[in-house]
Amino acid sequence: MSEQYEVLAVRYGTRQASAAEVFLNYHVYREPDRPLGMDYFFWVARNPARSVLIDTGFSPAAGAARGRTMLMDTVPALHAAGLTPDGVAQVVLTHAHYDHIGGLPAFAGTGAEVIMTRDEYEFWTGPMGRRGQFAHSAEASELDQLRELRAVGRLTLAGRARPIAPGIELIQVGGHTPGQAIVTVTTAGGPVVLASDAVHYYEELERDRPFSIVSSLADMYAAFDQIRELANGGARVVAGHDPLVAKRFGRPADPPTRRPAERDHDQPVAA
Ligand SMILES: [Zn+2]
Repeated sequence: MSEQYEVLAVRYGTRQASAAEVFLNYHVYREPDRPLGMDYFFWVARNPARSVLIDTGFSPAAGAARGRTMLMDTVPALHAAGLTPDGVAQVVLTHAHYDHIGGLPAFAGTGAEVIMTRDEYEFWTGPMGRRGQFAHSAEASELDQLRELRAVGRLTLAGRARPIAPGIELIQVGGHTPGQAIVTVTTAGGPVVLASDAVHYYEELERDRPFSIVSSLADMYAAFDQIRELANGGARVVAGHDPLVAKRFGRPADPPTRRPAERDHDQPVAA
């Protein structure tokens, strides 16, 4: 039998956005614009034998440069989830945007294996990743850190599907970025899909609305199909930036009178 894990979504940042910013070519839907909160998460899959971190958050500087509100830096956020950098065996990077790899320095002095897709690494360390519309979502110094990790043998490059540990698998879907990955995790409550930025908001899946930052629109739609198929097979999907994650993946033990909006913002959410 495959190992099972507890999954935590750790909300470390937030900002106010709008539908027109978030959805690609929003005008085609002929709806008025509306405010939409955007939350920033990383995720933990753990059991008594192993803790795997999925993404690392943005750095304080990269978040501030873009007007994002940081609620917790990476290490305090790990502490809130009951972890320290030394306790993390593997760090999976779903893609190389600033809000997913900016917390890597916390693991510089640890032995954690860092894993991302080869397509993602090669894109961002190659010439196309430096073009303006792409480069806007990345930090050159953080891409250099990926190169350094690779040079010292700590960065593993994955193909389209790769087991991370028993019960945890990385699956490349592309779309948002060339090598965007999702991560599936076996839990006692069935499989969980950490969609990361393959699905920022549930509305993308439910109304088939692509996100505004896209490297291949066809791949993004195909990723929606692939994730819906996993959901139809019984998996719970955790969207990458949706404030609804707290509501949909809150601890079942919470008293029903305590609404997610009343939850402390530094409370990790169990999926
Ligand atoms: Zn993101």
